[in-house]
Amino acid sequence: MAAPYVADAFAPRRRPTRVVSVGDVPVGGDHPIRIQSMTTTDTLDTEGTVLQVERLVDAGCEIVRITAPSKKEAENLAAIRSELDRRGVRVPLVADIHYTPNAALVAAEHVEKVRINPGNYVDKKKFEVREYSDAQYAEEVERAAARFRPLVRRCRELGRALRIGTNHGSLADRVMNRYGDTPIGMVESALEFLDVCEDEGYRDVIFSMKASNTQVAIHAYRLLAARLAEREDAAYPFHLGVTEAGDAEDGRIKSAIGIGALLEDGIGDTIRVSLTEDPVKEIPVARDIARRCRVLWSRPPRPMPDPGRPFVEDPFVHRRRVTRSIAGIGGSNPVRVELHLGPVPAAPEEAATALATALARLPELACEGLSVDLFDDPDVERLPGFVAALEGAGIRAPLALRSETRMAAENAGGAARIIVCAGDLIEDEGFEFVARAAVAAGTPLEWELRTTLEGTASLVDRVLDASARAGQEDILLSVDAERAVHAVRVAAARLHARGAADVPLVLRHRLLGGVTSGAALVDAAVELGGPLCDGLGDAVALGDGSDPTASLDLAYRILQGARRRTTRTEFISCPSCGRTLFDLEETTARIKARTAHLAGVKIAIMGCIVNGPGEMADADFGYVGSGPGLVNLYVGQECVERHVSAQEADDRLVDLIKRSGRWQ
Ligand code: SF4
Repeated sequence: MAAPYVADAFAPRRRPTRVVSVGDVPVGGDHPIRIQSMTTTDTLDTEGTVLQVERLVDAGCEIVRITAPSKKEAENLAAIRSELDRRGVRVPLVADIHYTPNAALVAAEHVEKVRINPGNYVDKKKFEVREYSDAQYAEEVERAAARFRPLVRRCRELGRALRIGTNHGSLADRVMNRYGDTPIGMVESALEFLDVCEDEGYRDVIFSMKASNTQVAIHAYRLLAARLAEREDAAYPFHLGVTEAGDAEDGRIKSAIGIGALLEDGIGDTIRVSLTEDPVKEIPVARDIARRCRVLWSRPPRPMPDPGRPFVEDPFVHRRRVTRSIAGIGGSNPVRVELHLGPVPAAPEEAATALATALARLPELACEGLSVDLFDDPDVERLPGFVAALEGAGIRAPLALRSETRMAAENAGGAARIIVCAGDLIEDEGFEFVARAAVAAGTPLEWELRTTLEGTASLVDRVLDASARAGQEDILLSVDAERAVHAVRVAAARLHARGAADVPLVLRHRLLGGVTSGAALVDAAVELGGPLCDGLGDAVALGDGSDPTASLDLAYRILQGARRRTTRTEFISCPSCGRTLFDLEETTARIKARTAHLAGVKIAIMGCIVNGPGEMADADFGYVGSGPGLVNLYVGQECVERHVSAQEADDRLVDLIKRSGRWQ
């Protein structure tokens, strides 16, 4: 087991790092999270690239990356830099390098930072499966170091920063063969290159560990933080991102989950949201994600009681928490999706009909539970009518009753479960009354803990004790605390410490009025997706009744973004860059229109053959630009059709999916 990756996984605190200056922009330490992006223009198109850089800077981008696929493009960075200077645009530039050490050396002369990918800086991928002896492995590392060393020396001389940017699916053959395409392999690959930097006394290094799979990205960054903590003076800043996240809501959700979950951990100093869209659209999403940690980290740390156990056994591996099934939630059931409807509707029949219409808009997504609030006597009086109206409208999802008082417990008969808000100020007798009422009604009981982060562990103790005194064994837990991700961790840890590790956890999120803004989408994605990536959560419950279609859609998108439940086609598409060989946004939209119904199938749409095949990592099918107007098609990592004309490529991809038996 590696060292702890953060000082305290229960208390939101920023990981301390050294400061690395990228031109005039300091990254890490106490500096704000820096927002960055990458141009999609041809690097040889000086005017087009400068215009795009200007648009990015106007939108709030603080560091801009530009691809340099060969020496020619690297040389043209000088022209771009000088035109930006002439226009008074002071933003630092980063050259993006793959496979071309000679281009890196040229680029270092003209830009403030160079990004290299240790998986392909020197190594050409042959994917030869063979065992490396220790001596052969060391020889390969030495060969890579010898090619890398001149760049490190030049960056040191010129005062340039370096990003060692490892990508899942893009590891050197030796690393792939020894460690597999895993977070450990990603970290080892990066550390081999760090050894060279430190050996040269050069420390202006920033790291990234990107993957399109949010779980892999989170685990790789954590593992790197842990490994660096074991080294001396190695608190380097991190650049966060989820690669090939795609476009639209799914791209935003995946990015928010991956980047947001790490920022909750206190990890991250600069971020890039990769969308298959105009890069300017990445900036507001990145700002929404960064906004959360500004709030999270700005509060002085308060004393945090130790919940007695870690929140997961291994924070570097995804494993779903093992729970028992209560009211169809937990155990081997998939993570359930429940809609909260708010108070019992005043007009039950109209409400039930409207709900049935809303759910019918997404026939492929099951609403697996409903809950309503009981606030007062009129709510209770309307309840039987609403239950009958739901039945009349053909809605069979189990109905839970929720209240802030004893009302749900007093009306528990017939409910799938009751949800009772348990606040710090309620006496133990009050908890016990509720638990006894649930026992008498034979109804499972969800305790919704309402407290501060610091109060969560002791409230878990109190509801467990009250449940035990009442003989109520069928309990679930949810948390309504100000720091949702950490509060769920504390609840899971405390349950484990108290011998109640199998109590299911419901992840609740208030989504008032539906998804009304980008910030609301980001909040939901982080607060639900973060714990889900850690294997915490047996159900997600969200909504307030105002837009059930949007709430249901969002819940399933988050589950898919966290890789916990797949209900649609998973699209992995690169954000495009100066290497891109076709219009990615338009191609992605076209392919989506034909294949979006293939639940569980992963399709990658990648702009170039240089990085596409490696970085599409775990896709089932790949559509990769292989030349102007030409496409290579892949099944898994195997190229099965080469240089198909772009006009035919969509049909041939569909045929391929059909021939592989994955068409539905
Ligand atoms: S895969 Fe896409 S983003 Fe990556 S280098 Fe190729 S075109 Fe650029």
